[in-house]
Amino acid sequence: MAVKFKAPRGTKDILPDDIAEWRLIEETFRQCCARYGYREIRTPVFEDLGLFERTAGETSDIVQKQMFAVMPYGSRHPVSEDERWVLRPEGTAPVARALLEHGLLHQSPLVKVFYIAPIFRYERPQAGRLRQHHQCGIEAIGSPSPLLDVEVIALGVDFLTSVGADGFVINLNSIGCMKDDCRPRYRQALIAFLQSHEPELCEDCRRRLHTNPLRVLDCKEEKCQAIVKDAPVSLDYLCSECKGHFEVVREGLDKLGIAYEINGRLVRGLDYYTRTVFEFVHPKLGAQSTVLGGGRYDGLIAELGGEPTPGVGFGCGIERVLLARQANSQTKPTETTVDAFIAVASPIAEDAAFKLLYDLRHAGIRADRDYLSRSLKAQMRYADKLGARFVLILGDEELKENSVTIRDMQRSQQWREPLDRVVATLAALVTERL
Ligand SMILES: [Zn+2]
Ligand SMILES: [Zn+2]
Repeated sequence: MAVKFKAPRGTKDILPDDIAEWRLIEETFRQCCARYGYREIRTPVFEDLGLFERTAGETSDIVQKQMFAVMPYGSRHPVSEDERWVLRPEGTAPVARALLEHGLLHQSPLVKVFYIAPIFRYERPQAGRLRQHHQCGIEAIGSPSPLLDVEVIALGVDFLTSVGADGFVINLNSIGCMKDDCRPRYRQALIAFLQSHEPELCEDCRRRLHTNPLRVLDCKEEKCQAIVKDAPVSLDYLCSECKGHFEVVREGLDKLGIAYEINGRLVRGLDYYTRTVFEFVHPKLGAQSTVLGGGRYDGLIAELGGEPTPGVGFGCGIERVLLARQANSQTKPTETTVDAFIAVASPIAEDAAFKLLYDLRHAGIRADRDYLSRSLKAQMRYADKLGARFVLILGDEELKENSVTIRDMQRSQQWREPLDRVVATLAALVTERL
């Protein structure tokens, strides 16, 4: 028999055996966020195309070639102008959109939220790069304070360290602001430099040179990388405010003992970043080594039609965190699925077993039974496979005495327990284990 369907290329099923590790990562992230005062937000998986054209930038790779359109099956074009939808290709713009739409930025001067969400990009699938991957991220919107940049980076460090993905290197840069004597001045210098090397650049970069010259700095083509090695860096062109901001960020990280490397060529792929940008890179992950990335985006909210409001945040790829844990030889956490398994050793015990199963479950005990009428021996093997701490055996003998045989698999002990006391006894034993 041939199986007819497979998961779409570039996507992955997360199977029950892998879930414990995913939960560990998600729970650790949630706990970290709670310690730093961030609350969870969930937004739809699809959004208006315009949201990303406006924020990521129409010339960004994301908007130009990496989005999945969402439209009714059978239509070749969006049904109408206001139904141009795409699957979420990044996490920040949807969160900003939601905060604005619901007026949360008015209710509180500083809003701190986190999300855990699938992200969709139409890319050539390769190791560490999927068409559906998952990100956990935070956004702190409402304050220009450089200490908030420090908090965001510190939370990232805290999270990756507690989840066993340490060993990363933090790359840090500032790409300045929109004031004339800041990024625009740098942009001019960069364009002048790149123009003197125009024939040597890749085709994409020859185009980017005029639309989005900063993006040339993170082109993956070798010939482009060789050229940008000598390109002017933004740090030399910062206005005095941006310079001061960056100094406070660095001092804050130093005070917390967080090591970082200044990387003058770090720009991040999206247009909305201003001032601080950072990437956490895990050296053991090969070509796709960025585990976490983010920065400040002081122009984003205004770009979406809100009052100018500064913000900062990061996104972290959960699949990359898994790879980093693997690279660090972290063992996969395992989980047992049941506390108690009921082995039915006689057909006449069926009724009592049925009732007992639900009494155990209602008492908060994870309980299961055999549904395949297997032999007692086979049931015991199955209980062992499930990792059941206790096996409750119900047979003719037990029934006659109105009792159950309880076998403690961990301590290799076995005893008879009156039927009406089984639930209380087990409840006590199971909580004792916790
Ligand atoms: Zn500036
Ligand atoms: Zn290039």
